[in-house]
Amino acid sequence: MLNAFTSDHAATLQAALPDLPLKPAEPRYLEEPRGKWVGLPTFVAAPRSTQDVAAIVRFANEHRIGLQPYGGGTGLVGGQLTTKGPEPLIVSLENMAIIRAVYPQENTLVADAGVTLETIQNAAADINRLFPLSYGSKGTAQIGAGLAVNSGGLNVLRYGMARDLCLGIEAVLPNGDILHGLKRLKKDNTGYDLRHLLIGAEGTLGIITAAALKLSPRPTNTATAFLAVPNPTAALELLARTWDTAGEVISAFELLSGSGFDFLREVFPDVRQPFETPPDWSVLVEIATAGDTDPQAILETVFAEAFDADLVTDGLIASSGQQAADFWAVRETIPLANRAIGAIASHDISLPLSHLAEFIDTTHQALLDIAPIRINCFGHLGDGNLHFNVYPPVGKDRKEYAHVAADISRLVHDRVVERGGSFSAEHGIGRLKTADLAHYSDPAKLATMRAIKSALDPNGIMNPGAVLP
Ligand SMILES: Cc1cc2nc3c(=O)[nH]c(=O)nc-3n(C[C@H](O)[C@H](O)[C@H](O)COP(=O)(O)OP(=O)(O)OC[C@H]3O[C@@H](n4cnc5c(N)ncnc54)[C@H](O)[C@@H]3O)c2cc1C
Repeated sequence: MLNAFTSDHAATLQAALPDLPLKPAEPRYLEEPRGKWVGLPTFVAAPRSTQDVAAIVRFANEHRIGLQPYGGGTGLVGGQLTTKGPEPLIVSLENMAIIRAVYPQENTLVADAGVTLETIQNAAADINRLFPLSYGSKGTAQIGAGLAVNSGGLNVLRYGMARDLCLGIEAVLPNGDILHGLKRLKKDNTGYDLRHLLIGAEGTLGIITAAALKLSPRPTNTATAFLAVPNPTAALELLARTWDTAGEVISAFELLSGSGFDFLREVFPDVRQPFETPPDWSVLVEIATAGDTDPQAILETVFAEAFDADLVTDGLIASSGQQAADFWAVRETIPLANRAIGAIASHDISLPLSHLAEFIDTTHQALLDIAPIRINCFGHLGDGNLHFNVYPPVGKDRKEYAHVAADISRLVHDRVVERGGSFSAEHGIGRLKTADLAHYSDPAKLATMRAIKSALDPNGIMNPGAVLP
């Protein structure tokens, strides 16, 4: 049983760590991007060192206080907010925001957990390297949190998830021990790889304080195209052909539905749209190469051949960096437009590629039997990852459909799992999907997760209520 973190605890902790920034939490620590939850009012500590994080964790064990790890607060599954139970202490990594070292010769970099993705991307660019982990929240989202949730984003197709970009981790374990795992090695088979236990644990098995990260060669030439396709089946065929022609150099292959363009027009009319008449389906493709290989020529070939094969009905290849940026602005503003419209239910799912097109079509039909909804289905097609979000009809408020939200999500997730897919592709479990985890998981997996949690965190202090409530 945990105790609430009180002002008496704050005074005791402050006396033990006089230099620790510790204060009542401002509203920003208690809000989240979609406005679904509000965190319990409490205190926030923002340690400046791994030693201080360890001292906080030891204090929490001694007093049986829950700890709420907090990065940039952009998580979409409520993992960063404690909404019920005793008030925890929020541990924000914002003051641990230094790039500790850059190793150009090794293509690695070591960063504190609180460094934002954008800062890491810039540090890599400074030595002519690429840190490819990227998503719309990159200016605020932190690397420690990105690893904690094993985030994905726009370049997974080519470079993998956060897990694939991490060589080593430093973390404070739930007993207050510091795990010194900042190795910069690709090969290190020395027993259980605890790095991979902490990655994706969403702060339930410890607080990540720093990471050693893998950098990639920086492509010198990039080409970007927006191509209208007749349907998702054609989009998948186009993906296969692009792979055949371009090989590993496809950096992104994003699917967009006509609803995304409609939503943009409705709430962000200033965003420049690529097509005069928004197509029902389109893909945003990026190819990035180094040396003499011309990505523009590759895209032109793909476009021409796909057009002849009726896989593409219209399209634009960006003729300038600005036009490419405009294309990406469309893709990156869609999540904001979605939020402004207000979803009845959102789903971050993944499926084997061979099931995707059939899933999109038949699930849309099945949902229409529940209510006259609209769907904005978009996402990282190359990774089989769709954001399959369900909205009220034009002019209606999502609140009118609140009573069917659970039925909608159950139907979507049932159909995903039946096809060998995942009900949480990249955003994690947090507090949003704990019931889904319990419902859909393999019993052996769930039992092993519980055994690991109770072995490492017997007092249940780490992110209580998240993942395994
Ligand atoms: C506009 C927008 C676009 C997005 N696009 C994508 C996308 O394409 N792909 C994607 O994967 N996500 C996306 N996200 C979700 C989100 O940005 C990522 O999950 C991101 O990694 C969260 O980082 P954060 O620093 O904001 O973490 P927070 O929200 O603060 O925390 C996320 C989780 O990590 C835990 N945590 C935080 N720091 C640590 C730490 N140091 N150690 C242990 N646990 C910790 C928290 O307790 C919480 O459970 C998007 C969000 C927004 C708002």
